[in-house]
Amino acid sequence: MRVAVIGVGGTGSATCRFLAKRGHSVVGYERFRVGHERGSSHGESRIIRYTYPDMLYTQMMGDAYPLWTELEAEAGEELLARCGGLYFGKNDEPSIHETERALIGAGLPYDKLTAHEVESRFPAFRLTNDETALYQPESGLLRATRCVLANARLAVEAGAVLREETVVTEIVTAGSEVVVRTDSGEESVFDRVIVTAGAWMGELFTRLHLPLTITRQQVTYLNIAQNPTHFEKGSLPVWIDATTLYYGFPNDGRITGAKIASHVLGESVDPNAPKRDVDSDYIEAVRDYARMRLPDLSGEVTYQTTCLYTVTPNEDFILDRVPESPNVWLVSGCSGHGFKFTVLLGKIVSQLALGETYGRDLSRFRIRGFD
Ligand SMILES: Cc1cc2nc3c(=O)[nH]c(=O)nc-3n(C[C@H](O)[C@H](O)[C@H](O)COP(=O)(O)OP(=O)(O)OC[C@H]3O[C@@H](n4cnc5c(N)ncnc54)[C@H](O)[C@@H]3O)c2cc1C
Repeated sequence: MRVAVIGVGGTGSATCRFLAKRGHSVVGYERFRVGHERGSSHGESRIIRYTYPDMLYTQMMGDAYPLWTELEAEAGEELLARCGGLYFGKNDEPSIHETERALIGAGLPYDKLTAHEVESRFPAFRLTNDETALYQPESGLLRATRCVLANARLAVEAGAVLREETVVTEIVTAGSEVVVRTDSGEESVFDRVIVTAGAWMGELFTRLHLPLTITRQQVTYLNIAQNPTHFEKGSLPVWIDATTLYYGFPNDGRITGAKIASHVLGESVDPNAPKRDVDSDYIEAVRDYARMRLPDLSGEVTYQTTCLYTVTPNEDFILDRVPESPNVWLVSGCSGHGFKFTVLLGKIVSQLALGETYGRDLSRFRIRGFD
């Protein structure tokens, strides 16, 4: 089958690889260079975890983990570092209890820790006495840019053609075929088109009025002032503060310091607007938080970047066939938590586009599923 994949980022690179490996004729279109820093999938780390206050996502992670291991084996490089993860919040934080229920329901191992237990196990980290943590050993970090590059490289090795610096401007259904038009005026015909355009999805499908908001998210790394071994993978897990929505990582072994960011939605932006440096008041807020949570960090910023979220109203993904275009599928709305799923979303959308099924009910990801 001739398949076009539009957008070779996190989900698109995985989609290209799955389809090419199965012998389909794949063309991946990417408006920048694969591995660029203008979208949502660049950087040294993304959290991977089973810990979700939602059973469907917890179960889907059970499907995603083996796919990451498979990608690592095929790529012959370390892409997933399992360093454990803390999910914590105030003792009465509902999502802690919902997450614990999901872990129990899925039969996954975890430890429930007090502030004192957290500090004795992870000496860099502080909880207050009114907070509780869930520790799950399989959490860790994915090396995001390397995952995209690995998927893309393996896709090409399996026969896919990647058209970089090529913007798809139009997708037109013509009977059982689909015509893809690019900014250079070129037209190509395919049997299936899968659109994984991230923050640019709304631009390609204005008629669908997709409920997507694009936000600018900021990331900082702070230097380590003392006890550097406490920040190594194994001594410090990845962590998510379910009450304030700050999250962070151990030292990733590549960039000096430890990464801290906030999942609170940033300002709404046009994905085509030029990138701006991280705001100074954001850096101050991160420093204040770090003083309380990770007192061995200094206030020195060693690295900073911004990235785009593509957010749906309830943070559920969108994965569906496009109405009135039976051979066009789209995946979007990864809502700031989608990287860990990209390898799975690429596989699922490939299967659905080929007329196959995925063993779980994804009806809540339908385009019209948001009220
Ligand atoms: C700061 C930050 C932290 C995050 N932390 C985590 C985390 O810890 N864990 C986690 O699981 N997730 C996390 N996420 C979310 C996750 O990174 C994203 O959900 C995921 O990367 C989205 O992948 P995507 O394939 O949808 O988008 P992208 O990777 O951005 O891919 C879309 C691609 O489409 C291309 N494109 C768009 N339009 C066109 C066109 N018309 N023609 C050709 N190409 C086009 C773009 O250039 C881009 O390469 C985070 C996101 C950010 C920004």
